Amino acid sequence: MTAEKPVLRVLLCAPRGFCAGVVRAIDAVERALEMYGPPVYVRHEIVHNKYVVEGLKAKGAVFVEELDEVPAGTAAPVIFSAHGVARSVPEDAARRNFFAIDATCPLVTKVHREATVHYKRGREVVLIGHAGHPEVIGTMGQLPEGAVSLVETAEQARLFQPRDTGNLAFTTQTTLSIDDTAEIVAILRERFPAMVAPHKEDICYATTNRQEAVKRVAPEVDAMIVVGAPNSSNSQRLREAAERAGCRHAALVQRASEIDWERFGAITSLGVSAGASAPEVLVEEILDAFAERYTLAVETVHNAHEDVFFPLPRQLRSDAAE
Ligand code: SF4
Repeated sequence: MTAEKPVLRVLLCAPRGFCAGVVRAIDAVERALEMYGPPVYVRHEIVHNKYVVEGLKAKGAVFVEELDEVPAGTAAPVIFSAHGVARSVPEDAARRNFFAIDATCPLVTKVHREATVHYKRGREVVLIGHAGHPEVIGTMGQLPEGAVSLVETAEQARLFQPRDTGNLAFTTQTTLSIDDTAEIVAILRERFPAMVAPHKEDICYATTNRQEAVKRVAPEVDAMIVVGAPNSSNSQRLREAAERAGCRHAALVQRASEIDWERFGAITSLGVSAGASAPEVLVEEILDAFAERYTLAVETVHNAHEDVFFPLPRQLRSDAAE
């Protein structure tokens, strides 16, 4: 006779997982494969998720980090990832006569436009974000070198010395912690009251909704799992949000095989969320792993309704219409 499994109350955060920008980027690669056939080249991981990337590879997508890895003279499409690229990348693609398809999330493009407008108006642009993240490289690369000052932390905001204190504007990465960013902005505003702010928050709706949902669930559970990749900024921020909201065991995992059963093997309640680049099938895989050890009592905690949809990149829409 098998021993009865203990009951585990599971609170599923909603919304979680894929956002409209990620859905659009994956659809763009899949549509390009259907319309033009393989190979389709993709510059950088289209979204930060190994499972998604491996799935697209199996269908004929070829992932490269730089354009010089794409064979010269190819007629195959070259797709830019949802994170956005520096201005020099499409320029380089045009020089090489590549058929470029830009899958940059429209909400990242919005930040690019803001930075460009500020620069044209003669303002020094402060970008709040994480150095080295592809989105930050792309946004800084909209303007000439030195035009954007990156501020990563509250400490850096306290020490930042602009060229002209009366002529500043700020933009942010779309996937930051809402709370950390609010603190950094408050410090900058106090120091530079004339600093121009974005018309509408740069941190995107998906990042905001997923963090708010985690903050609501985390204080009620023994442990929290965020499904996502370690290089996914918004997934990392969800794990941090869970910890800050009082959850002692919060882990970011890509697959069920990564669950540390020393930490998650003797709990009575679990919160589950997923970063904007994590597919729901991986959430199901995690739940299946817990179901092998526990009897699950699953509840969904709805925090916001999302109906954002972005049409496919223009290049694909016009070819599809023909
Ligand atoms: S996380 Fe936000 S900015 Fe990034 S792709 Fe999704 S909707 Fe766009």
